[in-house]
Amino acid sequence: MCLELGRTTQATRVDHVIPLAHDGPDEDCNTRNLCEPHHLEVTAEQFGHAVPRHRGVGRDGRPTNPEHAWNLARRG
Ligand SMILES: [Zn+2]
Repeated sequence: MCLELGRTTQATRVDHVIPLAHDGPDEDCNTRNLCEPHHLEVTAEQFGHAVPRHRGVGRDGRPTNPEHAWNLARRG
């Protein structure tokens, strides 16, 4: 994956293209060598643990949409 980005990085992880947990075969045709950051990235995606994005919620935990009832109420 680093090569696709035009850089060379030592591959330290063997990643299963189809995860073993998803019934992927433990064979060479289903593996690729990745660097640690890319391995973490694809694994998170495969298991639905991508960095959570709390869409529409500000850092204070309140909705960022000015039309949200909370914000309308605050406006008064
Ligand atoms: Zn990489």
